[in-house]
Amino acid sequence: MKVFTRLSDFTEARDQIPPSKSIGLVPTMGALHAGHASLVQRSVADNELTIVTIFVNPTQFGPNEDLSTYPRTLEADIELLKSLGANWVLAPQVDEVYAKESFFSFQIHSLADRLCGASRPGHMEGVVQVVSILFNIIHPKKAYFGLKDYQQFIIIRHLAKAFHTGVEIIGCPIVRESDGLALSSRNVYLSSEAREQALFLSKCLQHIKSNWAEIKTPKDLRSLTDTFLSKFPLVKLDYIEVLDADNLEYLDSFENTKTMHAFVAAFLGKTRLIDNLRIQ
Ligand code: AMP
Repeated sequence: MKVFTRLSDFTEARDQIPPSKSIGLVPTMGALHAGHASLVQRSVADNELTIVTIFVNPTQFGPNEDLSTYPRTLEADIELLKSLGANWVLAPQVDEVYAKESFFSFQIHSLADRLCGASRPGHMEGVVQVVSILFNIIHPKKAYFGLKDYQQFIIIRHLAKAFHTGVEIIGCPIVRESDGLALSSRNVYLSSEAREQALFLSKCLQHIKSNWAEIKTPKDLRSLTDTFLSKFPLVKLDYIEVLDADNLEYLDSFENTKTMHAFVAAFLGKTRLIDNLRIQ
């Protein structure tokens, strides 16, 4: 496995790859776990060459977020990627990816004004920016994203199509701990008490699904989840929504919509976690 920490070395090597070779890209911010590993395994199975990027992208963090404390475990990540059969790793420096002065910013309309896009202003724009840069540097045939970040997946899928990138976007299922908690690099921040209460996210989604027959409107959803939330005193709810699964549109009533998807985000102390589940 080749590891590139300089973008110039990477692009030189990339230029040598014949166009016929199928390249799979797995973009990550490192601190890899079994969720990331599932994306890499899928890419290794599908493509002749799998490239994993490890880049804690500053433009997708807000001013009061955890950019400086985000877990960084490059050595362990490299060992894991070797064992998974990844071919190349690109872990570039920030000043090679972004020029000192920027004249551009992205604007995303309705898809990013809800869920995490609303709670974390500028986050989705930063994601779109870095993913566009990675597509331009790497020119993959396929790129793999986790459905754990469902809104991100939908936005990237639109991006790939709207800008004629020629990249096929593959969504991979959420990998969970045995008790249901979705794996996240941020789970390491949780105290043992917070870790227990973090089960609120997956359990609340399951609770919504099991009681779906009684939930007709967003108001019903809110009263069901408020009662459930009262059992988890450490949880500070950010949002809970059921939206149209394909276009993330708000629904006044859940009765005549075919594909519905539930989304939750909550804080445990300073740690913000997200999860989602297909309801119907
Ligand atoms: P991150 O390093 O958090 O930016 O995540 C990199 C990729 O891994 C994104 O496409 C995530 O959606 C995906 N990912 C993170 N956690 C999981 C998980 N538990 N299951 C599946 N994919 C995941």
